[in-house]
Amino acid sequence: MKSNKSLQTLKEKDYTVDELPIWNFDGSSTGQAPGDNSDVYLKPVAIFPSPFLLSPNILVLAECWNADGTPNKFNYRHEAAKLMKAHEAQEPWFGLEQEYTLLDMNDRPYGWPTNGYPAPQGPYYCGNGAGKVVQRDIVEAHYKACLYAGIKISGTNAEVMPAQWEYQVGPCDGIEMGDHLWVSRFLLHRIAEELGAKVSVHPKPIPGDWNGAGLHSNFSTKDMRVEGGMKYIEEAIKKLEGRHKEHIAVYGEDNEKRLTGRHETGSIDQFSYGVANRGASIRIPREVGAKGFGYFEDRRPASNADPYRITGIIMETCFGAVESDAAPAEK
Ligand code: ADP
Ligand code: MN
Ligand code: MN
Ligand code: MN
Repeated sequence: MKSNKSLQTLKEKDYTVDELPIWNFDGSSTGQAPGDNSDVYLKPVAIFPSPFLLSPNILVLAECWNADGTPNKFNYRHEAAKLMKAHEAQEPWFGLEQEYTLLDMNDRPYGWPTNGYPAPQGPYYCGNGAGKVVQRDIVEAHYKACLYAGIKISGTNAEVMPAQWEYQVGPCDGIEMGDHLWVSRFLLHRIAEELGAKVSVHPKPIPGDWNGAGLHSNFSTKDMRVEGGMKYIEEAIKKLEGRHKEHIAVYGEDNEKRLTGRHETGSIDQFSYGVANRGASIRIPREVGAKGFGYFEDRRPASNADPYRITGIIMETCFGAVESDAAPAEK
């Protein structure tokens, strides 16, 4: 047991995760534990400089553990980290494209008319100027906050549907992908809160002829990134084809509303791939097809998917499973 001293505000120092105290919270208030056994432990796993309180203040990412020493059922990081460790010789890189929609307090996309719709999609993607994009102050404040925190953010763009945006995080090594994406999401919600907008990661916020929101997942290994890499890219895609259902099962909720085969998506029931094909499950970028090596893009994950589950199952499917530590299913 930690002494109460560890619960005080920490002294100024460069901390490693092992030097930080383990905290706990009431998991019954978050749907993570039953009321009669509610303590969930927070085990620090990554540290980021705080863009709000500024250095030396830190943000700490933690894994959730149960009192009996098993990972909490929502701790998807633990299994993903084991897969990354088991296959570290592959040197996996991931780059995720987080799409999201900014909503007003009535849950309407920001800037949309209350009783109608904006003009059809077309002029908004990568747009600039009033009438094309909204809330760029949130987007840019978020970008700066990510840079301050050391998140490997690598770009941003206005999306096809008005009030929808995207930012990219990566390339990141292995488990770092999930860590950086989760912290980037936390920062986005915090900043949007300060500027009076809600962030939606629903994959189809507006039904009809409006693009949904995804979390395109770009992936490569050391063999894929060098000359002759296409052979390894094709091998991986063949393996992904055989486990389409298993991937869809962990690629986010309500994804069937988005993966219709329209609006730059592939169909949820059918696996497909192609060079430069934005209507496929997997796209090999044109430049990669031309060079013969590089990476590929899994376009299936929804914007609300868990990056640990995505990156974990990609490693499992391509390179093999590891033994699970999850608690046995409840009787
Ligand atoms: P799109 O054309 O699909 O919109 P983006 O430019 O938005 O593509 O995103 C490309 C993503 O691919 C970025 O997150 C980037 O970090 C990632 N990426 C680039 N090269 C690699 C690579 N070799 N391995 C894994 N991810 C990569
Ligand atoms: Mn993109
Ligand atoms: Mn996009
Ligand atoms: Mn993409």
